[in-house]
Amino acid sequence: RAKAKGKGSFYVFENDLEVTQRARRELEADIKLAIERNELTLHYQPLTSLRDGRVVCFEALLRWSNPSRGFVSPTEFIPVAEATGMIVAIGRHVLRQACREAARWPRHIRVAVNISPIQFRTTGFVQDIAEALAATGLDPDRLEIEITESVFLDKTAITMTNLNELRGMGIRIALDDFGTGYSSLSYLAKFPVDKIKIDRSFVRDINASDQSLAVIEAILAIAQKLSISVTAEGVETVEQARILKARNCNDIQGYLLSPARPAAEILEIIERIPQDFGRLLPPEMPRA
Ligand code: C2E
Ligand code: MG
Ligand code: MG
Ligand code: MG
Repeated sequence: RAKAKGKGSFYVFENDLEVTQRARRELEADIKLAIERNELTLHYQPLTSLRDGRVVCFEALLRWSNPSRGFVSPTEFIPVAEATGMIVAIGRHVLRQACREAARWPRHIRVAVNISPIQFRTTGFVQDIAEALAATGLDPDRLEIEITESVFLDKTAITMTNLNELRGMGIRIALDDFGTGYSSLSYLAKFPVDKIKIDRSFVRDINASDQSLAVIEAILAIAQKLSISVTAEGVETVEQARILKARNCNDIQGYLLSPARPAAEILEIIERIPQDFGRLLPPEMPRA
């Protein structure tokens, strides 16, 4: 115990703890104010079909810019917002905003929204989605929700009911960060899932690691059997894209084609990407 080391170190220990706790409280307070102060915006990252290089969907990703903190990564503030429950209000805001913006895009383009497990388990979650769609006029079959496998771990009956209701409305369900969590292949057969997003940790060393490639090939094989679509996350190189295309992965998402960008750039991105894709991955020439 710190106290056994003497009075001095006891106080140092206590001060460290106080500093950490104060920093945490200040972060919580700033997150709380972020919505009303309009500091949260959404950027959108394209998902591109490996078949023809066309953009099929954009994933909405939260961006928080605070006057004194600058840009804060969602990997930093989402866990805090989840621990305090603020993620529920933030998630509702995100859902509205994403649906509102997507309603103005070309009709064949979908929008994907990340849903925290905490938000997913709130009573009235399905109702929230229905209201967001009704209020913005977005067609339900243009909305995908991204959940992680952790939502399958408990309250199985409610989860199943929610997923079936959402699916009945025409909404697509995507399993995010697949391969990193409690991945169990039995979930894929048990729960209604339309899409798997392979976590970028597997994609990163797809050409260096036989193990990562084996995991990806196994995911693609089972997904194809179950008629589940597959998106590879974090595709940064042409080589990664080629390997995935050769194995009939459906879509790619990553810095190779575009990072997340403001909504104002959506139309430019939709036009640019098929051209870039054609140059990077030219269709194979038929042999003479
Ligand atoms: P995610 O849903 O898996 O989103 C993909 C993350 O990978 C994004 O990070 C994206 O910017 C990043 N990324 C995309 N392509 C590449 C690439 O080629 N290379 C690398 N290194 N990274 C790439 P971001 O925007 O920092 O978001 C991190 C996580 O925060 C998200 O992971 C998601 O779990 C969470 N998040 C973001 N927005 C929301 C939201 O509105 N609601 C909730 N509940 N969570 C969100
Ligand atoms: Mg996601
Ligand atoms: Mg992901
Ligand atoms: Mg992730």
